[in-house]
Amino acid sequence: MTLRNIGILAHVDAGKTTVTERVLFATGATYKQGEVHHGTTVTDFDSQERDRGITIFAAAVTCHWRGAQINLIDTPGHVDFSDEVERSLRVLDGAVAVFDAVAGVEPQSEAVWRRADRYGVPRIVFVNKMDRPGADLDATVEAIRRRLHPVPLVLGRPGLVEQVAERHPDVLDEYPHVSPATLQRALRELTLSGEVVVVLSGSAYRNQGIEALLDAVVAYLPEPRVEARPFSGLVFKVAERTAFLRVYSGTLRKGDTVLDTTTGKTERVSRILRIQADRHTDIDRAEAGDIVAVTGPKSVRTGTTLADPAAPLVLEPPSTTEPVVSVA
Ligand code: GDP
Repeated sequence: MTLRNIGILAHVDAGKTTVTERVLFATGATYKQGEVHHGTTVTDFDSQERDRGITIFAAAVTCHWRGAQINLIDTPGHVDFSDEVERSLRVLDGAVAVFDAVAGVEPQSEAVWRRADRYGVPRIVFVNKMDRPGADLDATVEAIRRRLHPVPLVLGRPGLVEQVAERHPDVLDEYPHVSPATLQRALRELTLSGEVVVVLSGSAYRNQGIEALLDAVVAYLPEPRVEARPFSGLVFKVAERTAFLRVYSGTLRKGDTVLDTTTGKTERVSRILRIQADRHTDIDRAEAGDIVAVTGPKSVRTGTTLADPAAPLVLEPPSTTEPVVSVA
């Protein structure tokens, strides 16, 4: 099954929570639509977060769309939590940048965009809140071009094929009868290079544009790259006695003994969990590229690499500022 590890990047209030909810609803991961800021938002992880009405803690949820598995990694939008943003950016392969069609590109959206540039995260754009009075797609697209610098290509607009043909030889070769497959491949390659950004628009609130957004995630954002070596995984979040882990190589099996490269101790992985919006499912194994939650390791901290004890590898130096969190 094809896999996408993506995050939703946004200025606070642009609609990240609403987009996430509608995505989970559209993919069938939730049966009931939560109301934002009423304490039932599915990605909110604890009461502090609910109380503050902003997404502080990064967590990951899995959903499925037209045969693809999408792991949605929650990236905090608030500027105070930029360490956490950076940590979650490390485990993403692609992102959806959400803008408010009235507010356009705000200073904080610019800051998040630059960080994603630094980590080389390919992006597509969702211009949200198109239902609001004063919503201006053209002005937002122009601001993206001027302030963030990729060439924005609005899906569905006349002239799209010509714009792609200017930048991709395969499309130029087939012009004017360009097959959808060629156009898609070209857009994916241009998205990966960061040269262009595909732009979609809609209203999460009114459930408009969400299915097209999911199609675009699968079409234009990349699959994880996996390394052919024994198991290694990076812990990018510890919450509620659970370590969220991105598997970079090999296979992790339930019951495996792994090395915590920060403490130097070996630990047993007692459970591997697939986190869905409204339930957790026990699974027996996690393959390279996937994002799962594990329990068992007794004191694991964010930034730690768990690895096959016979072939240890440190994916990221442990942070010196993070407290050790016990997940016993
Ligand atoms: P976040 O801070 O980026 O997570 O944004 P939220 O999803 O919490 O949305 C912020 C506010 O904008 C909330 O009051 C939402 O109900 C509202 N909102 C989100 N999406 C839309 C939309 O498409 N149209 C309109 N009119 N409001 C929206």
